[in-house]
Amino acid sequence: RLRGKSVRKLLEERLPKKVVDILRKAGQVGSARGEEVYLVGGAVRDLLLRNHNLDIDLVIEGQGIPFARELAAQFPGCRIRGHEKFGTAVILFEDNFKIDVATARHEYYARPGALPTVETSSIKRDLFRRDFTMNTLAISLNTRTIGHLIDFFGGSRDIKERIIRVLHNLAFVEDPTRILRAVRFSSRFGFAIGKHTLNLMKAAIRMKLFDKVEGKRLLNELIHMLEEKNPLSPLTLMDGYGIPQALHPALNFTPKTMELVESTIGVLSWWKYLFMKDQIDSWSVYFLALTDNLSDGDFKSVVERFSIVGDLGRHMASERILVRQALALFARGIIEKPSEIYSVLRNLSLETLLFMMAKTMREETRMAISEYIINYRYVKPLLTGKDLIRMGYEPGPIFAPILRTLKQASLDREVLTRSEAEDLVRRIFPIKKKEADRDTISLDS
Ligand code: ATP
Repeated sequence: RLRGKSVRKLLEERLPKKVVDILRKAGQVGSARGEEVYLVGGAVRDLLLRNHNLDIDLVIEGQGIPFARELAAQFPGCRIRGHEKFGTAVILFEDNFKIDVATARHEYYARPGALPTVETSSIKRDLFRRDFTMNTLAISLNTRTIGHLIDFFGGSRDIKERIIRVLHNLAFVEDPTRILRAVRFSSRFGFAIGKHTLNLMKAAIRMKLFDKVEGKRLLNELIHMLEEKNPLSPLTLMDGYGIPQALHPALNFTPKTMELVESTIGVLSWWKYLFMKDQIDSWSVYFLALTDNLSDGDFKSVVERFSIVGDLGRHMASERILVRQALALFARGIIEKPSEIYSVLRNLSLETLLFMMAKTMREETRMAISEYIINYRYVKPLLTGKDLIRMGYEPGPIFAPILRTLKQASLDREVLTRSEAEDLVRRIFPIKKKEADRDTISLDS
């Protein structure tokens, strides 16, 4: 076992006390169970880089699920969700903090030839399956070894030298999505991709290895990339290596595409600044930007390649057409009143609206969409169905146009009070007298 230097101090100083206490407890539980417990992956990498990261991944040499159960029992209100098939568990704390637990099983390898069967350390094999050396570090958490940095593959040197390196020559062949991960990490940390690794990566791109990868996995990595703080940087790198075309021959990041991405970044930071409650998928706004220069047919094919199927795929394809129609209407200058803006935009998702803001060159259009997002979409008619019944209207198909008219009037600020609204309704939708009423009137007269 390669027990290197101690990073215990770093661990205790950089992580919140609550997390340190949980990790210490994890080590104690492991030691009592006779199992080795390690903190692994991104959290260790980011600890050495002094970056904030509370994605805690533990690997247990032993039985992950029973370990997780025992650890959870130490904390009030703590639950676990185990996946027997994979030997993994998520420990969910009362305050929503969570920890992922995986099992590194003890397996015995038969050596080729006459050599005896040997037991390799299972943590080593677990770490060897990872993508880059910087992600292969582990920190022992057991009572007597807490804080020992375990570095089988030179990860801490590569982090120090700020280099991304694969563990072996088949890394990209085994899993081409690592190409996207290399690009993402390289731009996030400002790390260079090692020379040999870069050659392997370029060869993998040339060999069209992406073609063998399931769309869902590619999309997953693309989403991670688009959710980076500044996606322009990995996207530019990606383009430099010819990755877009390797993902799908129609994908083509032109300077205009990059401008659109930049403008999307601006719009999304405006959106974030608004602190609206709506949850949006920011990746899909970027996705619309990256595919804006494609024909409808190519867009459909790209969407299929990334397995964006079902409702979402159909929805993206149809909204893309609606965007063009709406922008054309705005460009003709015929959409002015708030109620007109509302009726053009009402069926579009927030992601599409934000994309439109990024795409349009007209300041008026951008303002109109932002007004819609901030105000218009919340406007309600001043009266409800109940009010209409109280006013003497019979519930029926007439209610929809009345309420629509009222909403338009509120949007355009033509009515400001409930009594103005009532007057408007009575004027536009006079109540028809019933036959019986008319009879009475004619008799009387
Ligand atoms: P991030 O900070 O973006 O979450 P991370 O390193 O924590 O980065 P994850 O995608 O959460 O990345 O993956 C967790 C760990 O799993 C990584 O540290 C990496 O070692 C390993 N891993 C993820 N994807 C792959 C892959 N395609 N091939 C090999 N190892 C992978």
